[in-house]
Amino acid sequence: MILSLSSHDYNQLLIWAKQAHPQECCGLIWAKKNEMMHVDKLELTKNIANNPLKYFEIDPKSLFDANRKNRSSDDVLIGIFHSHPNGLTTPSYQDAMAVGDVWDASDVGDASDASDASDVGVMGDIWIIIGNGALQAWMRVENGEIFGKFNPIIINIINK
Ligand SMILES: [Zn+2]
Repeated sequence: MILSLSSHDYNQLLIWAKQAHPQECCGLIWAKKNEMMHVDKLELTKNIANNPLKYFEIDPKSLFDANRKNRSSDDVLIGIFHSHPNGLTTPSYQDAMAVGDVWDASDVGDASDASDASDVGVMGDIWIIIGNGALQAWMRVENGEIFGKFNPIIINIINK
């Protein structure tokens, strides 16, 4: 499985991570419905974690808006990104434990979301983690090699 990312977006992620340092930055990864493994747009969101030096929590308002947009357009939320100020691009134990929570938060108050999520297949399954001047993409899977939750996926950088 390969995720396509433009060189512009790649650099943008590194810049956001640098600007947020020593805090973690975070945000949403969008694709178009017919090209689910091609990053179409990145959206930086507020990190509302109590301790943003060590954790990230995407602003629920952003998730709520994303959920609505997800259902009313060609844009599909395929995942999230965040940075690790310690430079590691591997999911932390806390990241593995948080899998699920991030998306559950966006489902609050709307029972129809569950069926929508299955419609779009990989929604929310892709994580990009930014370290110091580098990044790695991960796919949420059953029995993954990282804490049983994630496997690495290859990023294909497109010059753009
Ligand atoms: Zn993390």
